[in-house]
Amino acid sequence: MLNAAFVLLLGGIIAAAFYIIRINRRLARDASDREHSEQREQSRNHVLELLAHGAPLVTILEAIVRGVEQENPAMLCGISLLDSEGKHLLTGAVPSLPDFFNAALDGIEIGIGAGSCGTAAFTGQRVIVEDIQAHPYWAPYQELSRQAALRACWSEPIRSASGKVLGTLAIYLREARKPTDADIHLIEQSANLAEIALERSRADQALRESEKLLSDILENVSAYIYVKDTQGRYLFANRLLRELFDAPMEEIVGYDDCKFFDADTASGRREDDLRVLQGGETIQTEETSPNILTGLTAVYLSVKLPLRHEDGSIYALCGISTDITERKDIEEHMRHMAQYDGLTHLPNRALFSDRLQQALAAAKRDQNHLALMFLDLDKFKPINDTYGHAVGDLLLKEAAQRIQDCLRASDTAARIGGDEFVVLLPVIEAEQDAGIVGEKIRHALVQPFELAGHTLNISSSIGVAVYPEHGADEKLLVKSADIAMYHAKKNGRDNVKMYQPGMQEIM
Ligand code: GH3
Ligand code: MG
Repeated sequence: MLNAAFVLLLGGIIAAAFYIIRINRRLARDASDREHSEQREQSRNHVLELLAHGAPLVTILEAIVRGVEQENPAMLCGISLLDSEGKHLLTGAVPSLPDFFNAALDGIEIGIGAGSCGTAAFTGQRVIVEDIQAHPYWAPYQELSRQAALRACWSEPIRSASGKVLGTLAIYLREARKPTDADIHLIEQSANLAEIALERSRADQALRESEKLLSDILENVSAYIYVKDTQGRYLFANRLLRELFDAPMEEIVGYDDCKFFDADTASGRREDDLRVLQGGETIQTEETSPNILTGLTAVYLSVKLPLRHEDGSIYALCGISTDITERKDIEEHMRHMAQYDGLTHLPNRALFSDRLQQALAAAKRDQNHLALMFLDLDKFKPINDTYGHAVGDLLLKEAAQRIQDCLRASDTAARIGGDEFVVLLPVIEAEQDAGIVGEKIRHALVQPFELAGHTLNISSSIGVAVYPEHGADEKLLVKSADIAMYHAKKNGRDNVKMYQPGMQEIM
């Protein structure tokens, strides 16, 4: 009985002892779990802090790896990255594995059987190798892993949000074993952190690349590109504009056009800018302004457009200006060529006809008189024949100048043929006035010319017709002046003839 009671008591004591041991163990495990989860929380926060501060990718990956290893000193952790081709694994962060091991695996081609990581990266699935020495995936690396004293390798693919494999996170052990649920949880969480770091790094890279592309375009394009805020202050100026302003970016940003142009130019610019910034218009204008560096006036074709927030409100304008000075000069030159005589630079027949029509319309409206003169040099051919065409040219130029010098600014002299000139006096008081001007010109032309070492003498025959007396329109007036000139020639040259009715009959 006593024996039975003793056995019972003993049994109770033993049961109680086991119970206490179990409790202690559980308490110890709970304490260690708590310690682990605190540690994991700490290392996770550390990684997130690094991410927030924009730390380099390799620093963040190493912090993830170190976090795993600190929580589980028996584990060696490593992160590998898939190359841009998506075919090879490159070393990412493997601070605790031996160098010879890392070097041998750096750049391995992924595929089934390419170790745990090569296989995980290829299949996109977690690969658990409990015993490297016994697993076919590790067959090519048996010796290598023996030298590195590694027995188990669990590899988790790191995948982007879209499911694309970016790399792998592997945990190595020196003993052969499979992972517990807690281990799997750790691997998943760590791979997840690595994914955030890799995605952020890729987004940064993509942003840097697109910024570089934009900057390459803006800095190398042969146009002036700028952004101004709503107050007209520069927010950006591309290289060409900085060169034009002869100032670095920091001396442009924050300043408006008053710093770079005279007050009139700046206020003209501001008016255009306001059409864009307040009216929301996209405008195209021709702007003329002095080039700060050369001092020459330049012409720009400018397109200005509003830049809007997502809600549609305008926060800035973007301007793109091209220097079209050269094109304008060419256009101007061509216009000049089409309207002026290349030798004497007097207006040609077309421009003269235009001016005559305008003067006739004004004379008709204001009931004024105007005069038209036809002038032909006398015996000009012999000058050419004796002294050569070039000397003849010099004489024509000089004669044109002398004719011009006899006139007022409102009068027009034109060259309409070889040695033929016409003169328009758009307003005259009386017929005699035209005769006086004609006489003045005739006199000016009979003065000797000193050209190319020769003294040349020439004269001219001048016919004058007056509106409205000698012709009510261009055609009739021209005809009358021509007839009068013909009469001057017939009359012995070197004289001025006023048109008279009946003159044509003589011809
Ligand atoms: P006239 O008194 O009858 O006017 O005799 P002219 O010798 O002046 O003869 P005309 O007016 O008929 O001829 C003008 C000459 O001018 C003919 C041509 O050889 C010459 N000529 C025409 N264009 C040019 C030119 O651009 N340069 C030079 N040097 N000579 C020209
Ligand atoms: Mg002549």
